[in-house]
Amino acid sequence: MTELLYQTDSYLKTFDAMVKALDAENRAVLLDKTAFYPGGGGQPYDMGLLRDGEQKFPIQRARNNKGEVWHFLADETALPPIGAAVQGEIDWDRRYKTMRTHTAMHILCGVVFRDYGALVTGGDMEPLLGRMDFEFESMSAELVKVIEEAVNKEVAAAREIRTAILPREEAFQIPDLIRTKINLLPAEIKNIRTVEIIGLDLQADGGTHVRNTREVGRLRISDYKSKGKINKRIYLEISDPVNTEKP
Ligand SMILES: [Zn+2]
Repeated sequence: MTELLYQTDSYLKTFDAMVKALDAENRAVLLDKTAFYPGGGGQPYDMGLLRDGEQKFPIQRARNNKGEVWHFLADETALPPIGAAVQGEIDWDRRYKTMRTHTAMHILCGVVFRDYGALVTGGDMEPLLGRMDFEFESMSAELVKVIEEAVNKEVAAAREIRTAILPREEAFQIPDLIRTKINLLPAEIKNIRTVEIIGLDLQADGGTHVRNTREVGRLRISDYKSKGKINKRIYLEISDPVNTEKP
């Protein structure tokens, strides 16, 4: 199992690790620990590089295979040797935009549930762009405006975001988690990671998030469409530059 450093520190940009195994055919490197997000839950994988002394290994994607995180090399450079002590560096610009987007999606989710009782049925994102499907009977340009304003109000409210890792039994006691379909998690998952926007939203989630909603920046709902009788899709964009006030 690879230790997932981003789960406890989403702001970790560089880290030291050891090469545990190689997949020469796929040009992939397995590390003992990593800050690279391997993709999942709608959040895309990180890019970046590994360094072994003077040598640089560009990483074009990462993937989690049964708890092992593999890092795929971008070019034809030789693979680092097994046992090598390497330094990893994630593409922070891409990651931070993704963190802001992921948190924006949770704010949207929280607002729509709080104000309309509508559940999320799916979603996907890339840096600064996202889409989410909700159980809504009807959607209109007016309603989209109201939702957009409510989300931006939560961004401006500077709500704190906290993550926790709880034993499964404890997590299952939290009423708010039930609506996020926590019961669909495979039984072998013994610990549940939660992401809470204090006072707004609590979900079981493995992704990376900003520490405060004001880091998200301004959200715009760019479009919406019907995806069936009770499913409506909302498209969102996060605008740069981010609020200048850093955490
Ligand atoms: Zn999420």
